[in-house]
Amino acid sequence: MTDDYWGLCPRCHAAPDQYLNVYKAHYFVCHRDKTRWMGGYNLFSVWQDESPELWETNRALLRGYTHVEPIYPNGAPADEGEGNVLELVRPDFDYMDYVLFGSDA
Ligand SMILES: [Zn+2]
Repeated sequence: MTDDYWGLCPRCHAAPDQYLNVYKAHYFVCHRDKTRWMGGYNLFSVWQDESPELWETNRALLRGYTHVEPIYPNGAPADEGEGNVLELVRPDFDYMDYVLFGSDA
């Protein structure tokens, strides 16, 4: 797994600073550019140890960030074997984004 595995910020081409969970959805963010992109759904079990209050805090922060399509220099994760663990295929991410953040996504 390389730094660009989860995609790079399309503005600064840097790896994401971190990911924030909203329930089972993992959002990668670049804090400098205030960009967000969904990297996966139910990939990291850590969400199970988090609270609805934290998810709401994360959602509020992410709502102020710009929804972007990340850059995948080596191909999107879904194109690789490891990507098979994705519960959602990438087009569904946009729908999830709409559900979580509304039509301004
Ligand atoms: Zn950036």
